[in-house]
Amino acid sequence: MRCEEIDPLLDAYVDGELDLVHALAIDQHLTTCAQCAARSARIAAVRAAVGSAGLHFAAPPQLAERIGLLAPAAPRRSSSQTSIQSSSLRPFAWQSWAAAAALVAAVLLGWGLMRWQASAAGQDRVAQEVVSNHIRSLLAEHLFDVASTDQHTVKPWFAGRVDCPPVVEDFKDQGMPLVGGRVDVLDGRRVAALVYRKGKHVINLFMCPPADSRAAAEQPRTTTYKGFNVVSWASPEMSYWAVSDANEAALQEFVTLWQARAAR
Ligand SMILES: [Zn+2]
Repeated sequence: MRCEEIDPLLDAYVDGELDLVHALAIDQHLTTCAQCAARSARIAAVRAAVGSAGLHFAAPPQLAERIGLLAPAAPRRSSSQTSIQSSSLRPFAWQSWAAAAALVAAVLLGWGLMRWQASAAGQDRVAQEVVSNHIRSLLAEHLFDVASTDQHTVKPWFAGRVDCPPVVEDFKDQGMPLVGGRVDVLDGRRVAALVYRKGKHVINLFMCPPADSRAAAEQPRTTTYKGFNVVSWASPEMSYWAVSDANEAALQEFVTLWQARAAR
């Protein structure tokens, strides 16, 4: 898991509310990521401070009595029925509490599910943004800021324009030539976009360093949005998103080529 995915789960993690799979994934992440470990420690410290600050107290016994007085009085038809009512009141009260507890549990479960979905939605949101950027680059004919098939021209062009100069590779011999590059915005960050052609299809490859400098590598993951394939993957130094209307096999081929080249 990456830091952005872990961040919204940390409160629940510290409270021990996460399912086993997510809790173990975060355990694992915290051993390698000082930033998230520090954040987790801060949350735990606040939790401990609130717990020990004398902010909780036991309800006095009179409280239950007073609540009893405030509760709507049961209709009293005759004094002889009173004892029957009080004994039949107990199981009813117990059932009410059980129903209330079940409701609270359902709400908490729903809340946990929502938080889990929010992290999954975060990944999908970036994939959707990747597709939007791709479509915009095609529609506005804003494919390049620098049009060049020469990686030695494209790479230095990015210097000073993005946080980290991209790795620039050309796959002309494999039928996927580099045609240019530009600066784009993804997930609120300036990213390098390299443009390739595969036949009549355009492949946009976005890359930027991961938000967390100690992020782990991620295997390629394909999603499809509005008919475009998006493959995202990461090395410890760089996060990548490749997008195209070329078919999935062609895009996978591109990603495989890229990974083989980057692994040299
Ligand atoms: Zn982290």
